[in-house]
Amino acid sequence: MTDRKSLPDKLQPLEGLSQNLWFSWNHKALQLFQSIDAELWESSGHNPVALLQDVSAERLQQLSNDQDFVEKLNRIHQEFQNYLQSQPTVFQQQFPDLTDKIVAYFSAEFGVHESLPNYSGGLGILAGDHLKSASDLGLPLVGVGLFYKYAYFNQQLDEHGNQIESYDALDPQRLALKLVTDSTGQPIKISVFLKDHEVKAQIWQADVGRVKLYLLDSNVPENAPADQEITSTLYGGDREMRIRQEILLGIGGIRALRAMGYEPTVIHMNEGHSAFSGLERLRELMEKGLTFEEAYQMVRNSALFTTHTPIPAGNEAFEFDLMRAYFKPFWENLGLGEQQFFDLGRNVNEHKHENFSLTVLALNLSSMANGVSAIHGNVSRAMWKHIFPGIPESEIPIGHITNGIHTETWLHPLMIQMFEEYLGKDWRENIRNAEYWKKIDDVPDSVFWQTMQEMRQEMADYLRAEYQKRLERFANAEHHFPAPDAILDPNILTIGFARRFAPYKRATLIFRDPERLKKILNDPQRPVQIIFAGKAHPHNDAGKELIRTINRFAQEEGYRGKIVFVEGYSMAISRAMVSGSDVWLNNPRRPLEASGTSGQKVPINGGINLSIMDGWWPEAFNGKNGWAIGDDIEFADPERQDQHDSQSLYELLEKEVVPNFYDRDENGVPLRWVKMAKESLKTIIHQFSTHRMVWEYIEKYYVPGMKQATKLSSNQFSLLKEHVRWLKNISAKWPTIHFSVLSNGAENRIFSAGEERDIHVVVHLDGLKPEEVTVELVLERQDALQRSQNMETVALPLEKNLGQGQYQYGKKVRAKTDGAYRFSCRVLPRNENLLHKHDTRLIKWLD
Ligand SMILES: *Cc1c(COP(=O)(O)O)cnc(C)c1O
Repeated sequence: MTDRKSLPDKLQPLEGLSQNLWFSWNHKALQLFQSIDAELWESSGHNPVALLQDVSAERLQQLSNDQDFVEKLNRIHQEFQNYLQSQPTVFQQQFPDLTDKIVAYFSAEFGVHESLPNYSGGLGILAGDHLKSASDLGLPLVGVGLFYKYAYFNQQLDEHGNQIESYDALDPQRLALKLVTDSTGQPIKISVFLKDHEVKAQIWQADVGRVKLYLLDSNVPENAPADQEITSTLYGGDREMRIRQEILLGIGGIRALRAMGYEPTVIHMNEGHSAFSGLERLRELMEKGLTFEEAYQMVRNSALFTTHTPIPAGNEAFEFDLMRAYFKPFWENLGLGEQQFFDLGRNVNEHKHENFSLTVLALNLSSMANGVSAIHGNVSRAMWKHIFPGIPESEIPIGHITNGIHTETWLHPLMIQMFEEYLGKDWRENIRNAEYWKKIDDVPDSVFWQTMQEMRQEMADYLRAEYQKRLERFANAEHHFPAPDAILDPNILTIGFARRFAPYKRATLIFRDPERLKKILNDPQRPVQIIFAGKAHPHNDAGKELIRTINRFAQEEGYRGKIVFVEGYSMAISRAMVSGSDVWLNNPRRPLEASGTSGQKVPINGGINLSIMDGWWPEAFNGKNGWAIGDDIEFADPERQDQHDSQSLYELLEKEVVPNFYDRDENGVPLRWVKMAKESLKTIIHQFSTHRMVWEYIEKYYVPGMKQATKLSSNQFSLLKEHVRWLKNISAKWPTIHFSVLSNGAENRIFSAGEERDIHVVVHLDGLKPEEVTVELVLERQDALQRSQNMETVALPLEKNLGQGQYQYGKKVRAKTDGAYRFSCRVLPRNENLLHKHDTRLIKWLD
């Protein structure tokens, strides 16, 4: 707050509470702010900082005399202080030796709370939830992003369903942000070189519990107007604007961390937008005297890249000309040639066109990489296998960690109340504990159901008010939208569908057979309503057409009042919909939904998923905790796919969803429904939380990366230098390594079921020592569709030194009993300093 003096003494704690986004997942804090002035709370967009600036002095005086309010404030403030100070944290307990290491998490968007709308969709919400769980778990992590003055656009819809985009300027003085300054109080500024001149940026700090999020902002007076606009909008502008934003995010982000005194041990790039950060780290290390090879290995060994985009075209890439315009001085400064530099990101895209891909750059500049669900891990390995020639698809070093949600952010307060009453006050400490959530069965069905009813009612009230604002706007236009009191019946089966309007998400799939849908909606005994929300990217005409289609149906007889489109999808609307909807509909075209997270917000609030088996859902679905639309079949023809999936959707609605919902006991409780909802809650809440997700990042990547980076850099990078010498030597000799004799296998490399053989191979190591390599037998099942998914490797021990650089390896190997296996042999480099066995990307196969 700028004028803190205006707060009466007794209300001083509001200052600290409003300035830390911890409030965004503490319902008591949110309710407290709302109770200050409900109207201002709504009109400010749930912004406590603006609220405190705008609320009248009388009201503040009144509150400071309100014993109840002051006590509540002090209690919440105490809770906040305890939260910030409590130690040891979960991370400190598990990894006491690593508490001085820091992870820097880079993302182009962060969705922490609707009052700081620095997000467009799932990627940003995920990043925000990642920070919150990092804070809860006590992981030392800082976030790095950009501060977009006009954020993403506001969405309004006219009477024809046309999306109207508008942009409101955010005022950082009225947000939970503070300018980062140096010890003399001067703003810290960094600069990046863009094409032919320096561009400056200041840094805003947002506190997210214990975690700090830094947002770079080019809107400073030193910059020319065109440069001030670099951080104007999220995903607006042309390719040139995009490259400038990403240089500022990646290169500027690293510089900002340095300027503030941070020495992060591990860099996590959330999607390729921040891949240039690796180039800046290369530059820094070379400036310290490392060679390119050394710097390159140091950067890779301390970086993690998370890919999110299973569509080739969705992966960020720039034309070489544009890259040249922005990076020529950069690579010259590093002493690199153009080709060597372009090779870092060179890719051939789906149109057989070569360009500079940030995904490829990020994969090259990180030893650690992952997709965001099991399916997406498979898709990513298949999509990027050309970067790893010779390595079998199933072993491509792109793992997966399935996305989650920050549970407390997305839980309705009524659910929290239910948990505290029936499960215990300790539910927060047990979010990852599967056993704990079984206690949800102790909640009486009628209580559970009553809570669902109340949340549906609350959603209806909230969204009706939103809808009313929209209708008032076109009071004079001709339209057939129903009146607010004719929509959103709080007592009927309510299906929610809210997401970005990207065509692959198939928002209109349920309208494929309009008559059949009409029947489902209008059964007098068992009516159904569907609520839609979501934005189409300003350049996505196909997405906008889908919005128009739904808005046409919303005005048509037979659908009016049953189909509602709520404009301006935001975290606030999302919270309402995921807690008030009975069913969450998700019908993307497989396998294009990398993970999806909105569906994870639903079961924790008692709702049930009705979803295509894509993204996270196959990992959650157990046959009893929701419904699977279609099956695993993927048709080449999208028409057939839509037909197949929509049939399945209608059938599920007609035969299961609707009957289950309306099958009531004598007290009006749908027992079968509640059973499924409880099953859904207890099987999903722990697994699809960012607490589980962040912990997995810690164990799989952050901790190994911290140890690796520390090891390689200690003693003035002595181990790094040794490692690079080894790598150079092995890379130089690798081309001449070859197999010669394979005995007991050369004639027939097929094992039949259960067969046993004594296999020996001779490898010419050409001066390499036998302990520098691993020789493996690889068995691939012959009859399986995806052979590499059924692959087994067996290490062959060294048997004899045959002299003259030749070594014999071998073992008695027994095949599995379930079919025929073809076998082959391969050599891989071996070194204890490799993060994983394919990190060198060197591999040699027996022909
Ligand atoms: C959760 C959420 C998303 C992500 O949902 P998907 O299932 O990935 O589409 C997007 N936007 C908002 C506002 C959300 O709350």
